[in-house]
Order: sequence, then structure tokens, then C-alpha cells
Amino acid sequence: MTENNTPTALIMIFGATGDLAHRKLFPSLYRLYKKGRLTDRFAVLGVARRSLTLNEFQDSVKKSIVEFTGEQDGLDEFASHFYYQSHDVTDSSSYIQLRELANKLDEQYGLEGNRLFYLAMAPEFFGTIGDHLKSDGLTDTAGYKRLVIEKPFGHDFESAQELNNRLRQAFAEEEIYRIDHYLGKAMVQNIQVIRFANALFEPLWNNRYISNIQVTSSETLGVEERGRYYEKSGALRDMVQNHMLQMVALLAMEPPIKLNTEEIRSEKVRALRSLRPMSLEEVDQYFVRGQYDAGTIKGEGVPAYRTEPMVDPESNTETYVAGKLVIDNFRWAGVPFYIRTGKRLGSKSTKIVVQFKDIPMNLYYNKDTDEKLTPNLLVIHIQPEEGVTLHLNAKKSGSGMETTPVQLSTANQSIDRMNTPEAYEKLLYDSMRGDATNFTHWDEVALSWKFVDTISEVWENTKETTFPNYAAGTDGPQVADQLLEKDGFEWWPVENLEIDNC
Ligand code: NAD
Repeated sequence: MTENNTPTALIMIFGATGDLAHRKLFPSLYRLYKKGRLTDRFAVLGVARRSLTLNEFQDSVKKSIVEFTGEQDGLDEFASHFYYQSHDVTDSSSYIQLRELANKLDEQYGLEGNRLFYLAMAPEFFGTIGDHLKSDGLTDTAGYKRLVIEKPFGHDFESAQELNNRLRQAFAEEEIYRIDHYLGKAMVQNIQVIRFANALFEPLWNNRYISNIQVTSSETLGVEERGRYYEKSGALRDMVQNHMLQMVALLAMEPPIKLNTEEIRSEKVRALRSLRPMSLEEVDQYFVRGQYDAGTIKGEGVPAYRTEPMVDPESNTETYVAGKLVIDNFRWAGVPFYIRTGKRLGSKSTKIVVQFKDIPMNLYYNKDTDEKLTPNLLVIHIQPEEGVTLHLNAKKSGSGMETTPVQLSTANQSIDRMNTPEAYEKLLYDSMRGDATNFTHWDEVALSWKFVDTISEVWENTKETTFPNYAAGTDGPQVADQLLEKDGFEWWPVENLEIDNC
């Protein structure tokens, strides 16, 4: 990692009139500026198709900051660093003009030739932009050149490899920063800290003490206006290939010998390599899918997936996935990792539940019901709450020796939720400092696609006759429960695990 704590750079945003730029990138840059993490030596060059004057563009930047941060301190000064070029990225002739503007800004702000190219655009343009950045000399610069690229990175292994080979003509692997915005979330980064900074957990972090791990990412939102994209992607490509497998890799990896990008990545890659591959015939044993029907969310009726805009009325696309991952290594043999993710579920929540094994001879149990004790759980709350809860058993108050479950919790939310850095703020800052730890390396992308491609192949070629198989606002399809029941487990209901309930 080459680190530079006061980043100086020209940040070139392709897609600067888009939703991502306005909701995330401009507000994140503003917060970095306010915190002094961007000195005055930075410039942002926005590129998009729409024809805008410089004033109009700077006004749109200010508007987005007021809307999404609620602040306006120093806004004029901040926005004066923003420039704009109307440019169709498929039009070869305008890159030369872009290069001239970039060189001029470089000189004007003393940027030392450092360039960050941020592609906040539809993925079909990634290859073309990469080609032109090289052929028209924009990457020919005295400082660093880095490419920050949004998901999705390919549609399957083959297309991802094709895109990667193309981008590699212009950028070296270490210059490509593939965004997985889950990796920018503080609590996802905290998985490493919880594991490797506590004497308490790491000795137990294996198949002798852990019975299973459950990773849930549920949304209440439906497909909204993204029907066209989602029809081709589905929950498997949209969530499992990247975010879910990244969380599993962080949970399953071996301790790195150092906390640097290369060592952490190499352990994550080893964890992904340990995933047991499935044959086409085995997919149904390990993965199940769902699609939402009409239902009720927060008291309001919502439509079925098949009636959403730009969705095929007979769509075979999954809006829900649950799966069992088997990690074939010494640490995890015999411990299933269950994952589930879906749209239009009963709650919005991302959580990891580590369930510990029952103790060998339990002297305490609920005599009234003859029930076993609740297992110990470590719950990592990723969003919307951020925190950790440890579920233990303790003595009930009173004269008897009955037990009661108790929870020890730590939550970020109540203390400084307002100051929790947005994932994009962290990722932008890291990319400017040259820290690629929280971005995905090609090796991780390739392994994840290969794993997921087997499932897609089966699902694309078999029409799921039970779709739609869960009502909006519920916990998902029954098949997901059956997946765990086969192993003698059940999903921990996310609503019972909220920090507020503890
Ligand atoms: P958007 O449709 O709102 O914006 C697209 C931008 O690209 C606009 O600025 C548009 O002018 C520009 N553009 C389109 N065609 C162009 C062309 N030929 N030449 C020049 N400019 C052109 O899209 P978005 O929601 O901002 O998403 C951008 C990327 O970020 C996508 O890859 C998306 O998957 C990813 N992403 C977005 C979000 C989000 O919150 N919006 C979250 C995660 C990932």
C-alpha cells in the first residue's frame, strides 16, 4: 500500500449528472473536505452527456450537498473546485478535449499528475472508457492513475474476464479499485477487529465451537425503477456474487500475517477457494430461490414483482436467494454458512449470527418446558443498526437456579450515528490514499463468479413453477426454512435480534 494522508488529485467522475454522483459521491467529497481530508489541492472534473454550463453544474453539486448532508458551510469554496465537460463517452473525439482540461486543472491546482477516474456509469461503458483513457493519453500522467469502478463487474465469469482483460490494457491490477460498498461499511470492517483483536473469539472461531453461521441481508424495498437491470441480474448476481460472498470470506478467512492489503486479500482468496463447488445436479440441495408476490409493507399494499415496471409478467428472475455454503478446510469442516438475501421482506436488516455449539453436558434447562438452553450467539449488526450483541445465559433473579437469556450489546447508533462515515466517503478516501484493502481484487471477483455461475446456469434453464412464492412483507419463501430444517437448524428471526430488543 502506498499511503499518502493528504490526497492531492484530479477526480474525474464519469456519470456526474447521475444518481450515484448526487446521492453519494458529491456529499462524500464534501464531508472529506470539511474534515480536512482533502486539502485545497483537489479538483473534480465531471463528465456526462447532458449539456450544462459550469455554473449549472456547480449549482447541482451544491444542491446535492444541501439535500444529502443538510449542511452548507463553505459550500461555494468547495464547489469552485468542480468542473464539467459534456461528453458522450462513446464519442472518440471528445477525449482529447478532456485531456487538455485535465492537464490545465493539474497545473492550476498543483495536482502532481495524480488522477482518479471514477466510473459512475452503466457497466456497458466501462470497457470503452478504459480504452480511450489510454489511447487518448489521459492515463499518461506523472502521478498515480487509478480507476474506481462500480458494480456490477461483469454478468458472469466470462464477461467479467473479458472486461478485466480490457481494463488491464490501461491499468495495472493494483490501479483498479472495484467498489463493493458493503466493504466500506464500518461494521463489515469491524468483522476483522472483532475476530483478530479479541482473545475471546478467535480461539472459538472454528468447527469445535461454532455450529453454524447465518448471514442475512434483507430489504423492504422492491425493484423500484431498476426492473430492466434486475431482470437480467436477479438477487444472485446483484447480492450474492459480491456482498454476501465478501462477508462470508471475511468471516471464514484465516488470520492474515499482517493487516495490509495483500495479506488480507490473500486470506480472503484462500477462503473463497475453499468453498465447495457444486455440480449442476447438486445446486437444488444447496440453494433455493424466491420471488415476491403482492403483499403489505408497513401497512401499505405493494405489488408483485411480475407487475413492476419493465418486468416480464412471467418473469423467472429471483428476488430472493438462500443458500448453504460449505467451506472445505480444517477450520470449517462441518460448519454450514447459511446466507439469505431478498427484496420486499418484512424488515430492512443486514446481520451476521454466529451460533455456538451447545455445551457438552448442560445442567441447566428450562424445567417447565423441558427445553434446552438458548445457544450462545454473537450477532454482528451491520445495518441499519451498527453494533455487536453477545447472547448468553444467566441466572434468573430469585431464589431458584433457573436460567434466563441475557444480551450484552454495544451499538454505534445511539452514540454517534450522525457521524458514522458513509461507506462511499471511506472508499473515496481510501482510493485516493492508495489503500485497496476494502476493494475487491480480480482473484476474488473471478472465484465468486465461478461459484455463482453454476447456480445461474441451473436457474436460467429451469422455469421455477412456484413463483411467486413469498408475499411481500414476510420473511421469504418456505423453501428457505426447509433448507435449514434439513440440517436441524432454523434461521434466527432478525426482528428478535435487534439491539433495541435486547
Ligand atoms: P444514472 O442512470 O443515474 O446515471 C448515469 C450517468 O451516466 C448520468 O450522468 C448520464 O449522463 C451518464 N451517461 C449515460 N450515458 C452516457 C454516455 N453515453 N456518455 C456520457 N455520459 C453518459 O446511474 P447511477 O444510478 O448513478 O449508477 C451509475 C453506476 O453506479 C451503475 O453502474 C450502477 O450500477 C452503480 N451503482 C449505483 C448506485 C446508486 O446508488 N445509484 C449504487 C450502487 C451502484
